[in-house]
Amino acid sequence: MTTSATAFVGLGANLGDARRTLAGAARALAALPGTALRGRSSLYRSAPIGSSGPDYLNAVVELQTLLAPRDLLAALQRIEQDHGRTRPYRNAPRTLDLDLLLHGDTVQDDPVLTLPHPRMRERAFVLLPLAEIAPARVEPGWLDRVRGQAVSRLACGW
Ligand code: ADP
Ligand code: MG
Repeated sequence: MTTSATAFVGLGANLGDARRTLAGAARALAALPGTALRGRSSLYRSAPIGSSGPDYLNAVVELQTLLAPRDLLAALQRIEQDHGRTRPYRNAPRTLDLDLLLHGDTVQDDPVLTLPHPRMRERAFVLLPLAEIAPARVEPGWLDRVRGQAVSRLACGW
């Protein structure tokens, strides 16, 4: 445990009942020790990138947490496994993907954890929901560069 930080987690699912999986993951995040769920974006639908299978459902949530970055990453991986995540090959379809996008202002690059998340700026399915709940964390130029990607915001709740 460390001092409290605002963290953003990207959620994605493209197998099974994706909406139900994302809702369960948000509940599991809210139940982590020293952690509160402060906000959640709408759901977004995106076509798989470098991957196959059905469209993804994506969202971003904001956490206030006492967990250090590495401890939060380990917790995310446990929650993925609890939802049946396997990694048969790179970019395989997945029941649940949880990415640590930002943890306070931490900047690091090591084999286990890179912050900010190394691919978040290239992905409309991360930037659009992040901009919805934390516009100050997304620079306008980033959105311009992902405008061609097919991502739509859903009206349904979760
Ligand atoms: P992806 O989400 O890019 O499709 P995975 O979920 O399989 O890929 O993650 C691959 C590895 O990325 C994990 O083993 C993890 O250690 C590493 N990783 C590095 N930085 C991060 C981060 N910020 N959030 C999540 N995983 C990360
Ligand atoms: Mg991941």
